[in-house]
Amino acid sequence: MPAARLLATLAEHEVAERDRRRIERHLLEARLPPGKTIATFAFEAVPMISKAQVLALCSGDGWLETGANLLAFGPPGGGKSHLAAAIGLALVENGWRVLFTRTSDLVQKLQIARRELALEATIAKLDKFHLLILDDLAYVTKDQAETSVLFELISARYERRSLMITANQPFGEWGKVFPDPAMTLAAVDRLVHHATIFEMNVESYRRKTAIQRRTGPGRPQHAQQSPKTSDCRATTIKSPKPACQRQTNPINLPRPRSLSHPDRRASHPDCRATRRPRSRLETTGL
Ligand code: ADP
Ligand code: MG
Repeated sequence: MPAARLLATLAEHEVAERDRRRIERHLLEARLPPGKTIATFAFEAVPMISKAQVLALCSGDGWLETGANLLAFGPPGGGKSHLAAAIGLALVENGWRVLFTRTSDLVQKLQIARRELALEATIAKLDKFHLLILDDLAYVTKDQAETSVLFELISARYERRSLMITANQPFGEWGKVFPDPAMTLAAVDRLVHHATIFEMNVESYRRKTAIQRRTGPGRPQHAQQSPKTSDCRATTIKSPKPACQRQTNPINLPRPRSLSHPDRRASHPDCRATRRPRSRLETTGL
């Protein structure tokens, strides 16, 4: 092999090896739960979620650079954490940096940091992650101190770095979880400003598979559902500030008048009733 070609081959090999090691490092730091991948996620169990849309999100392009958010709501067992971890894994494999954490664990760390007067620095350190996945945000009632560190985090990342949030409670119920209505409204407003929302209102996958095991094999219940009935529930929200006002939407907090103007309503690209011209994210199906 001529020397120049040999050197080029060696350099290519070195670059590929470095990439592999980098992704390995990023996978370790991401702390993703094991075994939760797109390949093992049964999309037919969640007909309101478009696989194509999720795959597009997995590339990270068009939303992670702009700090847009991804929010998943639904009752326990519906696959929110699985989907979040699977998207996180795909993003790491595509070269992005991700951290998956239970919200309560992160809130505890942030509170310790606040006591040590290092809250700002700790939040700044999280900037290295293009996506921070906060699992189970509204799972347990938060006190004022917990809410305020969460608010600091949401504000600090707003329009710069993305958050993915999973929550059992829709926004309308957050008043019961977070003590300060003004702070809650401000946080929700920032979260939804540029966001894709998945409403995963399905029966618990655990329960369903347990029932199927008991009743024996057969056509799974979810396969009989028509995906058309609910495909407007994955909502993409992009500037201007949104107020999706459908009954099924989780954003049903009382909101300022300006947000409820019909021109500011956001909708899934498939919801033809929208009056607002579709944004780039929406037209690309993200
Ligand atoms: P949630 O976070 O909504 O409470 P999880 O993601 O923890 O639900 O799901 C509960 C269990 O069911 C997990 O083991 C998960 O892997 C599995 N599961 C849920 N939905 C699906 C799905 N659509 N396809 C495959 N496994 C699923
Ligand atoms: Mg979960």
